[in-house]
Amino acid sequence: MGNIKERVAYLQGLTQGLNVNERSAEGKLLINIIDVLDDMAEEFNNIQMVQEDLETYIESMDDDLTDLEDEVYEDIDNQELVEVQCPSCHETVSFESSLLESDDDLEVSCPHCGDIVYDSTLEIEVSDMDNGQVNSDFRYGIHPGI
Ligand SMILES: [Zn+2]
Repeated sequence: MGNIKERVAYLQGLTQGLNVNERSAEGKLLINIIDVLDDMAEEFNNIQMVQEDLETYIESMDDDLTDLEDEVYEDIDNQELVEVQCPSCHETVSFESSLLESDDDLEVSCPHCGDIVYDSTLEIEVSDMDNGQVNSDFRYGIHPGI
């Protein structure tokens, strides 16, 4: 970028050396063009400085993000693990205990043989049974005789 400023400065010197002045139409035009070039070089310079500031800022944000990731993943690593024994190959399979609290259907398969070691849909919880009871009573109420 400094190169552009230098070249514009050279052109400005050249106009003086060649005695280009505003008395002729061409001289006026050249001097004005070189003035515009000078403004543009200055503007480029400003943009470059802003960009360098932004780069520094983004780098510091990236560092912060890395710190944050380290902390978050460390928390995940520290989660309590549930260990079950695979019914097929008898290897111990561990998974995060928080998965058990999830409402989603969960299937954990053995990383050694691929067999399913835990399936949340097979577990019947008391709360589910209560809901089922309420629903069937409700249905019965609407359609007596079914
Ligand atoms: Zn297995």
